[in-house]
Amino acid sequence: MAVIIQKYGGTSVGSPEKIKFVAGKVAKRYREGNDIAVVVSAMSGETDKLIRLAKELSSSPAPREMDVLVSTGEQVTIALLTMALKDLGVPARSLLAFQIGIKTDDAYMKARIQEIDVDLLKKTFAAKEVAVVAGFQGITEDGDITTLGRGGSDTSAVALAAVLGAELCEIYTDVDGVYTCDPNICNKARRLDKITYDEMLEMASLGAKVLQTRSVEFAKKYNVPILVKSTFSDEGGTLTTKEDSDMEKEVVSGITYDKNEAKITILGVQDKPGVAAKLFSPLSDNNINVDMIIQNVSSDGKQADLSFTVTKTDYDKAMKIVKAMISDLGARDVVGDPSIAKISIVGVGMRSHAGVASKMFSALSSVGINIQMISTSEIKVSCVIDEKFIELGVRVLHEAFELDKTGSAVA
Ligand code: ASP
Ligand code: MG
Repeated sequence: MAVIIQKYGGTSVGSPEKIKFVAGKVAKRYREGNDIAVVVSAMSGETDKLIRLAKELSSSPAPREMDVLVSTGEQVTIALLTMALKDLGVPARSLLAFQIGIKTDDAYMKARIQEIDVDLLKKTFAAKEVAVVAGFQGITEDGDITTLGRGGSDTSAVALAAVLGAELCEIYTDVDGVYTCDPNICNKARRLDKITYDEMLEMASLGAKVLQTRSVEFAKKYNVPILVKSTFSDEGGTLTTKEDSDMEKEVVSGITYDKNEAKITILGVQDKPGVAAKLFSPLSDNNINVDMIIQNVSSDGKQADLSFTVTKTDYDKAMKIVKAMISDLGARDVVGDPSIAKISIVGVGMRSHAGVASKMFSALSSVGINIQMISTSEIKVSCVIDEKFIELGVRVLHEAFELDKTGSAVA
C-alpha cells in the first residue's frame, strides 16, 4: 500500500465527461489498495473567466478579493470529482485548503506555502476515503484565502507529496511529457524520459510551461520526483528527478524559447559607480523584472552603452521610466526593440563538456541569425535574436545537437 498524490490540470477536468474519466482512473488506483490524495485545478478557462469578470468591475481589483474570487474555480472541481467518485462506489471527500491547514504567507495572488497540517488528510486515509484537494489555494494565519500564482495547483500537489512522504508526485495534463523542444515548431522533437530538477527549472522559467516553476523548486528542495503524464494515454511520461551520472551524458537536453522579451538600450551612460543602481532601482520598484543585462566596455573610459531585456508586457512601462531618467543618468539616448526573443539550450551535461556555446553560435550563424545578446549559466546558454527567426533557430539547434537521437552529440 502506498500514498499516491495525483494532480489533474484544468484540461483534464474541463467537462463532466472528462471528470468521469478522471474518476475512473482514480478509482482504479484506489481499488489497488492505495491511500490517494487527488489535487485538481479549476475547469479549463474558468480561472481566466473569473479574472476577466474582476477586470470588468475594477481596473485594479484588491488582491485579497481576487483570491476569494479565483479560488472558487477549484471548489467547483473538487465537489464534482468527489461526486463522480462516489457514483463509482469510491468513498471520497472534497477538501478546501483551510480544511487541511495549507498555511501560506499573506502575499495574495502569489502566496507561498509555509506548512500543511497533515492530520486531517491522514484521518481521511484512515477512513479509507480518497482526499480530493483544491489546488492553487491556501489560507493565512488570520484565516484569509490566498492563491499560489497561476498554475499553482502543481505546487499544491508537490507540497502534499512532500509532507506525506510520497515517493512520487503524478501530474496529469494534456501533453504526455516534456519534449526536447516545442513539438509545434519542430517535428523532430523527442519526449524526454527523465530530466533533472535544475534542467526543468531552466526549461520552466525559459518558457516551456508544463509545470509551475515554483513546484519544481519545491520538488527539488524536498526531493520529490515529479512524473508528468497525459491523462488520456497510458504511454509516455517524463520524470523530473535528482541528477544521476547517466544524465550528464546528454550535453544538451532541450531547447526553449521565450517570445515575451523586449530589449532596451541606453546609449552613452556614464561609466562611473552608481549608474546601474540608479537605473535598475526604479524598474524594480515598479515590479519590472529585468532578465539579461549587457554593458559594453567604454572605449574612452567615460561612456558606455547598456542593454537589458524585460518582458514585452512590461516594455512600454519600462521605456517610460528609462526615458524619464536620461538626463539624470547622463545618457545620450534610449532605443527600444520589442521584436526580439530569447532562445536557449539547457543541459546538465554542459558542466562537463567544452565547446557547447560555440556550437550554438555556429549553428545560428549558419542560417544567418544574428545574436544580439548572450547570457550563460552552468547549465544553460541563452541568446537574444530577432523574434522572426525563433522557429528557424529552434530547428537548427535541434539538428546541431542531434536532439532527435538519444545521447545528444558531444560538441
Ligand atoms: N486554476 C489556476 C490557474 O489557472 C491554478 C492551476 O490551474 O494550477 O492558474
Ligand atoms: Mg498548469
